[in-house]
Amino acid sequence: MASQEIEALASALSRLPGLGPRSARRAVLWLVKRREQALPQLLDALEGVRDSLVECEICGNIDTRNPCGICADPRRDTKSICVVEDVSDLWALDRAKLFTGTYHVLGGKLSALDGVRPEDLNIASLMDRVDPGAGGGGVDEIVLAMNATLEGQTTAHYLAERLEEYPVRITQLAHGLPVGGELDYLDEGTLAQALRARRPVD
Ligand code: ZN
Repeated sequence: MASQEIEALASALSRLPGLGPRSARRAVLWLVKRREQALPQLLDALEGVRDSLVECEICGNIDTRNPCGICADPRRDTKSICVVEDVSDLWALDRAKLFTGTYHVLGGKLSALDGVRPEDLNIASLMDRVDPGAGGGGVDEIVLAMNATLEGQTTAHYLAERLEEYPVRITQLAHGLPVGGELDYLDEGTLAQALRARRPVD
């Protein structure tokens, strides 16, 4: 029977995605054995995340500043917006270093099963960026970079319909993405290829 402190840490870690109770215990044991070296570093990093990260009010990216480094970068092409489900997808695409536009993070995907409706996602703010009547506009292209899952594709179709009333080109990542594939698991070459070969939404 481990101490209460160790149990509490293991229980907190086991809630992280990809870590079950077993791997959480192994992580705790690793940390306890290296508490002199590894713990201060981890504590600093956690504190840094807690104290300095904010959500970008334009695109929903998570960064140390608002607007985020991508939205604030004058070299970025604001006429092109790549729409992704989650921040992890934005980071994956941006690591591929092929897209020079800006992003928009939906914060999830439409799901009848989980009861996620359009108003639960950052869709209104996307429309505002495209709609001249709402202070936006000047957008030429929207790249729908949803995951190749059923819900991702449902979300992409919904967005394509909503965006139809604006004079923007709507494209999506080329097929060749593995079906059921999640963007942040793909290697950068595959992602870059899917972006380069993006095609109009049909
Ligand atoms: Zn941003």
